Amino acid sequence: MSGKIMVVGFGPGDVKHMTYRAKEALEESDVIVGYKTYVDLIRPFLNGQEIISTGMTEEVSRAQAAVKKAEEGKKVAVISSGDAGLYGMAGLVYEVLIAKGWREETGVPVEIIPGISAINSCASLLGAPVMHDACTISLSDHLTPWELIKKRIEAAARADFVIALYNPKSGRRTRQIVEAQQILLAHRPPDTPVGLVKSAYRQRQHVVLTTLKEMLEYEIGMLTTVIIGNSTTFVYDGKMITPRGYQRKYTLDREKQLLAPHERLRPEAEPWALNGPEKPAQAKAPETKSAEKKAGEQAPDKTPYQWAMEAWQRLEAQREGGVTAPEGNATFNQGALNGQMEEIFEAAVSPGLANKQFKPEQLQKLAEVVGDKGSIRYSRHHQLLVEIPTSDPEQVVNQLKNVGLLVEPVGDVVQIKACDFCDGEKFDSIPYAEELHKRLGGLAVPKTLKIGFNGCGMACYGAVNDDIGIVYRKGRFDLFLGGKNISRTAHPGQPVAEGIPPEELVDLIERIVRFYAEEGHPNERFHKFFKRVKEIEGFKYQDMRPPITVEPMVCGD
Ligand code: SF4
Repeated sequence: MSGKIMVVGFGPGDVKHMTYRAKEALEESDVIVGYKTYVDLIRPFLNGQEIISTGMTEEVSRAQAAVKKAEEGKKVAVISSGDAGLYGMAGLVYEVLIAKGWREETGVPVEIIPGISAINSCASLLGAPVMHDACTISLSDHLTPWELIKKRIEAAARADFVIALYNPKSGRRTRQIVEAQQILLAHRPPDTPVGLVKSAYRQRQHVVLTTLKEMLEYEIGMLTTVIIGNSTTFVYDGKMITPRGYQRKYTLDREKQLLAPHERLRPEAEPWALNGPEKPAQAKAPETKSAEKKAGEQAPDKTPYQWAMEAWQRLEAQREGGVTAPEGNATFNQGALNGQMEEIFEAAVSPGLANKQFKPEQLQKLAEVVGDKGSIRYSRHHQLLVEIPTSDPEQVVNQLKNVGLLVEPVGDVVQIKACDFCDGEKFDSIPYAEELHKRLGGLAVPKTLKIGFNGCGMACYGAVNDDIGIVYRKGRFDLFLGGKNISRTAHPGQPVAEGIPPEELVDLIERIVRFYAEEGHPNERFHKFFKRVKEIEGFKYQDMRPPITVEPMVCGD
């Protein structure tokens, strides 16, 4: 039996952009199987082959027909525009074969022939927008639930991918591109560059360079690919360009560079990298606690962004003249080349440690600072989580602090969660909560560490379920270690001590936390750390898990 299936990606449609192997495959085939419009595009390469062409939604019947013909001994070319392995026919052909029990050793041979996909062909017409991490998302909800597509857009937007939207709109499917734009606008500035390319390298090719805010004012259809820039993408002289990151280390308009090429591999040349010269920060906050640390302590940890900016500034200080923006009609999105790079500033905002009441002017200021570009979410820990694109996080923090708001880091840091002390009436223990917050709040630790602090034995804010629980009772403190407050295997902390004298509490907690900060493994939660080390400050670990065994589940299971 000499039958074979070749799944051919023939690229954008212009013969000049078809691969040599794709042309060969078409010429050596006995049968061509494809969507009618695509068959017309490759007719110049046909020499009397049998043609099986069907309509737009008849992919399954095409794949079945191709398998049948190959099993009869024919060489079959199944054609896809772009790349056959990206929204093309390659996967479906395999699925149809697998349903028939196909095995590579015994079944018809299959060859997948790659082609240029729209993300590449359209990018080449726009300039160089896909120079960094990118993804493709099809907005067609014909085979994929829209809710899932929305999640993917959200995730890609948050993760700062350059995004290529395939199948953005059709005659009946018009809402998806509108909703996609709304999701993207929640995470990217309205002036983010966007390229709209219709029929790349075909007769009716049309290219538009616009912005995220204005993209819907232009024609978008089934033949359009929408390319959304990331936070560093800029437009220069009609070209959409995403920097690869060279400008972080090199001055692009000088011949002799400060860093030799081999220095890229030295940790000190890349302090932001995983294996940088100093311990990488785990906290995301821009705030440091330097003013609150004792003399002789280590310098405060920095975020990866802060590492990168500091390294760049050190290089800048040594350069002659520094980096200048190119002349011309450049519109730099977030100033990727001029040092004003924006980051997404994340923080937890609350009215205070014990105070749980926002004042109207605080909320007004918060809304003003967050603006249209940022977002505010309410957390289950009584905090507002804000995300604000800014090149000056310190100014943001100062604006919020000036109206009395508490601005705290998020991420793998120590977080103090106090109750409201019965609206401040049970005030005796508040100074100890504040001292703990002052000494430890925001300290980088292997995994987020919640210290629950409740002002009486009611413990109505659930301190006993936190990583470290502190309950004030009869003028002294009870201590709980290793609580786990989520999942089906949740359990309270182990009651390790009752009646700790107030003057001993803060020092004791600080020693526990610093031991965890220094000895914990990366990502190791405090309850697991306690179990591993078996003893902290003389408190011996005891298993507090529920007596019955339940299977731990990850999100979504
Ligand atoms: S834990 Fe006690 S002091 Fe705190 S709010 Fe509840 S009842 Fe009031």
